[in-house]
This record gives sequence, C-alpha cells and structure tokens, in this order.
Amino acid sequence: EAFNANVAAADALNAFLVKTPDHALAAADAADAARAAGDAPKPLAGVPIGMKDLFCTTGVATTAASHILEGFVPPYESTVSQNLWDAGAGMLGKLNMDQFAMGSSNETSAFGNVISPWRRNDGGNAALAPGGSSGGSSSAVAARLCPGATGTDTGGSIRQPAAFTGISGIKPTYGRCSRWGTIAFASSLDQAGPMARDVRDCAIMLGAMAGFDRKDATSLQLDVPAWEAGLSANLTGKRIGIPKEYRVDGMPAEIEALWQQGIDWLRDAGAEIVEVSLPHTTYALPAYYIIAPAEASSNLARYDGVRYGLRDLPEGAGLQDMYAATRADGFGDEVKRRIMIGTYVLSAGFYDAYYTQAQKVRTLIARDFERAWEQCDLLLTPTAPSAAFGLGEKSDDPIAMYLNDVFTVPSSLAGLPAMSVPGGLDHQGLPLGLQIIGRPLDEQGVLNASLAIE
Ligand code: GLN
Repeated sequence: EAFNANVAAADALNAFLVKTPDHALAAADAADAARAAGDAPKPLAGVPIGMKDLFCTTGVATTAASHILEGFVPPYESTVSQNLWDAGAGMLGKLNMDQFAMGSSNETSAFGNVISPWRRNDGGNAALAPGGSSGGSSSAVAARLCPGATGTDTGGSIRQPAAFTGISGIKPTYGRCSRWGTIAFASSLDQAGPMARDVRDCAIMLGAMAGFDRKDATSLQLDVPAWEAGLSANLTGKRIGIPKEYRVDGMPAEIEALWQQGIDWLRDAGAEIVEVSLPHTTYALPAYYIIAPAEASSNLARYDGVRYGLRDLPEGAGLQDMYAATRADGFGDEVKRRIMIGTYVLSAGFYDAYYTQAQKVRTLIARDFERAWEQCDLLLTPTAPSAAFGLGEKSDDPIAMYLNDVFTVPSSLAGLPAMSVPGGLDHQGLPLGLQIIGRPLDEQGVLNASLAIE
C-alpha cells in the first residue's frame, strides 16, 4: 500500500525504470515469517531497496539506461544484489541512471532524465538535476520512496548525487564489493556502494553488500568488519587533513564556508586538523577522462548486436553493417563520445602520449595520498564544487559537466574509501555535501568522521 501510494510520486521523478513490488513484498513476508518462528532477524530483514539499473537481476530487465540493452533479461544475479537478498532485503525496482553510468546529472539516460525532489527557495519550480550517474538512486532515497538504494561510483557517481540531494553515500575501497554481475564501465575504478538517509543506514547496507567473491579477480579476500557496531562520533586522537590543492580557483564562498564548518565540527568531535598537500590534484581530472573512456571503449565492445539486447539487421546487411547499425542506434551521444575518446587514446600512435601518461599520473596521485597518510588519518573536502544545477544547464557542455567531478575523481583513481554526508544548505536552500576520504580499507574511519558531521 505504501508502495502504491508512492507510485505517482515515483513516476513524477522518473526514478524507476522497472518496479518490482512483488520482490519487496516477498522479502517482507519472509521477515514476518522469520519473526513469527522466533528466528534471529537478518540485518536488512524486509527492507525494500532500490537497485541502480547497472546491477544484473535474475528475470528482471537490466538496461544500464541504454537502448542497446533493450530486451536484455539477465539469467543471473549480481553478487552485490544477491548479498542484499541474503541479508533479508527485497527489491522495490530498478532505478534510472546515466547511460552506462557516464554522466553527472542523469541526463544521458535513454529513458529520460530523473528529477530531483528538491526545489530552489526562490518561489520558482525549476527542475534540478539529482546528480549522476546514480541519479535515480539519489532521487528515490531523497524523496523517501525507499530507505536505501545501491549506487556505483567510478569517478563520483555515489558521492555527487548524494551531495546534490541531501543524503549520504559511501564508495568503499576498490575491491570491497564484488563487480561480478555489475555492468562494467571502467573496471579499474568501478565500485558499488550504498546511498541512504544517514550514516548508520549506509554502514548497515555496506556490511551486507561487501565481501570476498571468487568470481571477481579484483575482489579483496578479507572479512567484512562490523561497521555498524564500530560507529562512533568521538574522533579523539584522529588527525584530519585539509588538502590545500582542493581550494580551487573560483570556489564559491559558500562552499568554502561549508568546508570551514566541517572543520569546526570535526575539531569539536575531538580531531586534530592539519593542512596537507596533494600536489598532483590538478592532473586527476584529465587522467580520469583518459583512463575511464579507455576502459569503457574496451568494455563496451561486447555490445555488437549478437550477444545482448538490441539487434539492428538492415535488409541484406552483412555482419559489419549489423555492428554499425546496432551501435549507432543503441548507444547515446555521451557513450559514443567516450568510446571515441577511448579508442583514440588506446590507438597505436597515441597510446604512449595519452594512456601511458595518464597511468603514470594515476600513480603520482596515489603516491600523493600515501604521503598524506603520514600526516593524517582522514581527509575532509567538499564533495562537489556547487549545489545541484538545473536540468539542461550543462547538458550541452561536456567539459563543464566533467568539471563537476573535480573533488571526487582523485580518490577514485587511488581506490580509496570516500563518503559524502550532508553538510548544510546553500543560499538557494539546496543541500551541499562534505566528503571524507580514508586510507585503504578504513571505511570505519570514514563512517565515523561522517557521523561526527551528520
Ligand atoms: N561523472 C563521472 C563520469 O561521467 C563519474 C561517473 C561515475 O562515477 N560512474 O565518468
């Protein structure tokens, strides 16, 4: 009933691509039955979760918000979704997103943009971007359509939409969550994580999603810590680094004020604040926008009209024509842009100039962080350089869109855990996020500092 009451709201936001209320109801029934039988409750017993449409779900259409996967119904379940069901959760539906997770506003979806439930306090009703690529997830959680949703983060796609919609989201250390059954964008960067109303819910959900998986060669063979039990907002003895290179030119005064507010909150929680330097920060964005498209162009080669979803087979056409027609028709503009950039930087003549160079920069960025960890335990930065922008405001300008990822991309390149937590509102009444970045595997530290801010 609660679900049905929410359907109209969900439709207005365009957050859901597929609704699966029966799946969620079955989980609720199982939770009731377990309670009646006196069984110990599972961590997510009966909780209805929204799944980003990048996760393959058995028998439920999965599209990555692209026409090229139209008609694809996976015969298998992603490890992350299976882990959630094993923890007692149920699926409310598949959530809209940027096509193949490429974007920062959810406007590259083949199924229309998602609308944020937020409005500016100027009396107008201008529709705002929910962030991206996990924009269906952020919008659904912010609108209270579900208590939690999965996201994936390649260069910020959990953290930036969380910041834009006033919710929390954590990208764990690369390798914590299995990538098996999650449609690949850039394999060396992709990580799943939870998006929820608060830090505690994120800790609970992440605990269910994470874990070693022999089906993913980059999965970390480690036990999942008891993150929820370890939550504490007392930061005594922790050193928080403020990376001076993140104070970028033209940073709006209210973002700076938010950052200062975050510093004060962490100091009040017992932390010591130190200034640190991450000298190669300015090269992170260009390196990311070489490496991510390179990996994407390779990963997306499999969509050829033969194996999955869409097939355009013009009358009398040969195999090459089928490939060309299917890919021309099936991929959106941003996906094509990335494939072209990726194939270009990987081509024999330019490989060393672009791809090899970007990989070297990636190593320098990882070393910047390693050096910073000699002086501090965690880092505090803003999540994004602005509050949510209006739909259509940046959609014709890819570079302006890419610049939105300036604070989230470095920690992605280094594979570090990072979380966005609501920090306050801007002058338009829109939410702003603060980001905590941690050492490899220190999700607990990241969650605890976020809790101190919340
Ligand atoms: N906005 C970034 C991009 O378009 C990040 C996307 C993501 O993290 N999936 O690549």
